[in-house]
Amino acid sequence: MDRMAVVKVGAAASASVCVLVGGLALTQYVVAKKKRAGKKTKIIEMMPQFEKPTVHMRDPERVEQIICGLIKGGASKLQIITDFDMTISKFAINGKRCPTCHNIIDNCKLVTEECRQKLLQLKHKYYPIEIDPHLTMEEKFPFMVEWYFKSHSLLVEQRLEKDKLPEVVRESDVALREGYEQFFDCLHQHNVPVFIFSAGLGDVLEEIMRQSAVYHPNIKVVSNFMDFDDNGVLKGFKGELIHVYNKHDGALRNTEYFKQLRDNSNIILLGDSMGDLSMADGVPNVENLLKIGFLNDKVEERLDKYLDSYDIVLVKDETLEVPNAILQKVL
Ligand SMILES: [Mg+2]
Repeated sequence: MDRMAVVKVGAAASASVCVLVGGLALTQYVVAKKKRAGKKTKIIEMMPQFEKPTVHMRDPERVEQIICGLIKGGASKLQIITDFDMTISKFAINGKRCPTCHNIIDNCKLVTEECRQKLLQLKHKYYPIEIDPHLTMEEKFPFMVEWYFKSHSLLVEQRLEKDKLPEVVRESDVALREGYEQFFDCLHQHNVPVFIFSAGLGDVLEEIMRQSAVYHPNIKVVSNFMDFDDNGVLKGFKGELIHVYNKHDGALRNTEYFKQLRDNSNIILLGDSMGDLSMADGVPNVENLLKIGFLNDKVEERLDKYLDSYDIVLVKDETLEVPNAILQKVL
């Protein structure tokens, strides 16, 4: 056989391999497509909540795997670690921003107009830094501390009274995400531990939970708590400051709690900021960790980053429908 003939035979052989491989791939594709169109074999395909346009996932296979792990472990192995502001509470109602725990105090009638303006100026300076996609968490860290320190000092100057907090919360526009009753009631019913880790104001957070009738005994709140004097007047803040970007050592600061939950090795983590992703850092004995992120703001700039980090990203979704659907399968 001359060289040309060898080349021709070789080409023919590789062409037929291509046809074979191509045919096989096509058959597989058709089978898979038929499967998808017919019987639903995947857990996430069985949940209509996952078909909502607000649901984004980089790797649905991975999500499927984690959810299967959660289902296998059931209630006794599960624990929830969640942020509060803009995660459990709503970001906006009909386009109008809802308040965070801090905002509720900033905008309440107990605070003077002069103080409100100063707090607003601080927000205009520091919030863009908080959500700037071009800065690292380490770069943002000192600015967040500065923001908290300045705003907390302003609040102490206002001599806020503890007794007035329930009224202030009642009069605010705060709202929890649709489906919050089902979420907390079902976790309570199955005795699943819930760790709410918030850089907000603990006293306000607890009052919101109480007024919403979901502050059940299975919930532990770790946040910035106000310190009142004997007359119930704000004099400072207790303990170490928690801000958006130092949540990574939360588990280390609450070792006793997490030690007790050693067997709860399956975690559903809920958050709305990149800082929330580290809330489960340092938790011992993690088997399956499902990270659900709410992307509320600056969606186009941030979606890619969120998809890289959160398993499920819920874009401008003011409900807990997806977490509730998962809980229904797991519990
Ligand atoms: Mg938040």
